[in-house]
Amino acid sequence: MQDIVVPMVDLRAEYERFRNPIDAAIRRVVERTAFILGPEVEAFEEEFAAFCGANYGIGVASGTAALFLALAALDIGPGDEVITPPFTFFATAATVAHRGARPVFVDIDEATYNLNPELVEAAITPRTRAIVAVHLFGHPAEMDALQEIARRHGLWLIEDAAQAHGARYRGKRVGTLGDVACFSFYPAKNLGAYGDAGMVVTDDPKLADRLQRLRNHGQRKRYDHVELGYAERMDGIQAAVLRAKLPYLEERNRARRERAARYHRGLKGLNVRLPYEAPHVEHVYHCYTIRVTHRDAVQAQLRERGIATAVHYPKPLHLQQAFTYLGYSPGTFPVAERVSQEVLSLPMYPELSEAQQEYVISALADALRAQ
Ligand SMILES: *Cc1c(COP(=O)(O)O)cnc(C)c1O
Repeated sequence: MQDIVVPMVDLRAEYERFRNPIDAAIRRVVERTAFILGPEVEAFEEEFAAFCGANYGIGVASGTAALFLALAALDIGPGDEVITPPFTFFATAATVAHRGARPVFVDIDEATYNLNPELVEAAITPRTRAIVAVHLFGHPAEMDALQEIARRHGLWLIEDAAQAHGARYRGKRVGTLGDVACFSFYPAKNLGAYGDAGMVVTDDPKLADRLQRLRNHGQRKRYDHVELGYAERMDGIQAAVLRAKLPYLEERNRARRERAARYHRGLKGLNVRLPYEAPHVEHVYHCYTIRVTHRDAVQAQLRERGIATAVHYPKPLHLQQAFTYLGYSPGTFPVAERVSQEVLSLPMYPELSEAQQEYVISALADALRAQ
């Protein structure tokens, strides 16, 4: 089989470009031996919260930890229900279940692939405590409508912003659009660490305080444990690497948007559905995800030409074996189910060259002609 000539992401190319600041950042942490929490984490918490326009950032071990701890800090647990979309990464709903609460799925909007606010209200019961809105692929969820529903029913609104660092909704950055927001710095995300890392962002000082305790064994200060907490802290090395990369995040999101525009121009005449960007948002294209019939055949043909692609996500969460106990059957969420059959994410990263994109576009045109 042909070698990959266009990968999905290219973290090596990113490292080549930022080698000096990244190496210096890692060395700084090793010299100080501040490996868990510490000054680099505190500095990055301040810098990333400021980037979002929020008051507090709490550095944690992963995006999954951020979601879990946000739910814990809001005292969501057994007997509670939390509304989430079924078309997202597993962690969005798994963390709800790990709290002992029940994920209640609501179908997505066919244009943005985000939670459809028009369907949310019908899923609310006296047990509902929160809505987790995912900004999928980098396109912000419809937050005004969700906020209005949350306020009217007394629910918390949590952002899963793991794929949307820097994206804007009506001019405001994600991370400031609900009560609390959760970010992942998994290496391939728009802002990626050199290992696992995540952050919870909020404007609420009480919530920030609680999150700082919960991530570190419920400690108020060393060996003074005021409640049961967890070991979900951010590493110093991850914070230092993220600090080295944060100043370039906007520029790199712009590069993603330019590459998305190039795909748009090149793919316009083909029989595929292109990503949608609502007029009041700024998409950051964590994924450039098209829809195509005969998806698996098209994907195989692109692979034969050395082009990597990915399917985000092939099976909606309500049909995952891990969630059979929730009792959902096929057909319950028709949009999520249809979309999961057709989505195909094309290579997308800031270093993707024009020549590489032209190659992807012509190979895709050939693959479609062959169907
Ligand atoms: C990546 C991701 C997460 C989980 O983040 P990790 O850092 O991998 O734990 C959660 N939700 C969404 C939508 C994600 O894309």
